[in-house]
Amino acid sequence: MTHAYAPDLALFINGSWRMGEGREALAVLNPATGAAIADLPVASAADLEEALAAAEAGFAHWRYVDVETRGAILRKAADLIRERADTIATLLTIEQGKPLPEARGEVVGAASMFDFYAEEAKRAYGRVLVRPSGQRAMVIKQPVGPVAVFTPWNFPVYLLAKKLAPALAAGCSVIAKPAEECPASTSALMKCLVDAGVPANVCQLVYGVPDVISRALIGSPVIRKVSFTGSTAVGKHLMRLAADGVKRITMELGGHAPVLVFDDVDLGKTLDILVPQKFRNAGQVCVSPTRFYVQEGIYEAFLEGFRARTAALKVGNGLEAGVQMGPLANPRRPAALTSLIDDATQRGGKLLAGGSAYNEGFFFQPTLIADVPNAADIMNTEPFGPVAVTRSFATLDEAIAQANRVPFGLAAFAFTDSLRTANLVGDALEAGMVGINSFAISVADAPFGGVKESGFGSEGGPEGLESYLVTKAIHQA
Ligand code: NAD
Repeated sequence: MTHAYAPDLALFINGSWRMGEGREALAVLNPATGAAIADLPVASAADLEEALAAAEAGFAHWRYVDVETRGAILRKAADLIRERADTIATLLTIEQGKPLPEARGEVVGAASMFDFYAEEAKRAYGRVLVRPSGQRAMVIKQPVGPVAVFTPWNFPVYLLAKKLAPALAAGCSVIAKPAEECPASTSALMKCLVDAGVPANVCQLVYGVPDVISRALIGSPVIRKVSFTGSTAVGKHLMRLAADGVKRITMELGGHAPVLVFDDVDLGKTLDILVPQKFRNAGQVCVSPTRFYVQEGIYEAFLEGFRARTAALKVGNGLEAGVQMGPLANPRRPAALTSLIDDATQRGGKLLAGGSAYNEGFFFQPTLIADVPNAADIMNTEPFGPVAVTRSFATLDEAIAQANRVPFGLAAFAFTDSLRTANLVGDALEAGMVGINSFAISVADAPFGGVKESGFGSEGGPEGLESYLVTKAIHQA
């Protein structure tokens, strides 16, 4: 079975799609084969200047479009995304690797972002302060201005929607630079917005050399806010760039999620939840469960159950029916994982499943390593791949100390049947999101964001809208 990819990849600037036309190009790869499947034009300095000028003009208009009209356009975009979900999901699987049902779920999740913020924008309330009769003092919320957003390749459609929806709902114009690995699915999302009626200069899409683009956009006085999802290292770099212009920033950075499994759980049912979550999107998830801390009485049974379920996973091309895990998204990941796994086993970790890259493309075996010492790199560096590491614990205090020992704090999870344990771990885990007996922590109506080196600022929920608004006090005698 062959599927059409995208022969016409383009930038979207000031209302028109810009193809090659003498621009340099980057190759887009199919991670299931390693083959180059398309050329992606690189934005030039002139392209970026034009995008900035358009975003400035677009903001001057869009900020005054009434909220009902903005909401109607965003709801229409959500409908178009759902109508085109199968096509967008196929593009996403071809360029990113994840199994088609996961890709479809991602696209539908992106639509939910536009639905939510189409409504939430109506609740950008300010307040009226108490003053003597005849006087007024008001606090109002206004859109921050043109925004530059940078999104990664692991959830290219959902993570782009998570920024575009609240920014547009708030009245901001946006220049988006999604990851160059996955341009067809992100362009398809942009087409839904344009077809729904978002004005041409309000929303623009550029690709190219990331550092060239981020320096040009963040360095421009036109851009008032920067929102980034990606690695902590790049996040720190962008924060330094943003500091020069004192720009508002939202940083959604890496995690290293702990999972505490207490001995009161139904182990079989718990493993049936844990193992598919670990290997969802081949572990390339910022909230992927990674460090499994298991209470000592059930540790051996946990390892055997985890190992058996891991070995039974069907890995293959994400377009094939029944495939549960696809390849990694780019050639950097297998190399990075191999180095982390070698280090973990050399330091005494026991390899119980997987451990190797294989096949054409960027495939990697689902991997389980037990008893990994804290000094191993993988206990301190986000593996961002299909690798689970485990250690046992005796007491709740010990489990919390282990969970909190890394400098990251994005998501943390616990599995227990005890309400008291659930409450105690919910309070004590240093993370922006805690899932208890659940991994459903990324939804449109809830804030999502990290603490410590996982970043700051939330996306989702009213907090996500607030991050695109500035506060103004108006005092009237
Ligand atoms: P990377 O650090 O080179 O890039 C991470 C992301 O940032 C990519 O999407 C990339 O396009 C973008 N980027 C890189 N340099 C940039 C710049 N100067 N300006 C703007 N954007 C820039 O790493 P990578 O090899 O793509 O991914 C490796 C690591 O990144 C992973 O191990 C993981 O820790 C992290 N990551 C996190 C997320 C997330 O959802 N938080 C997503 C993707 C990658």
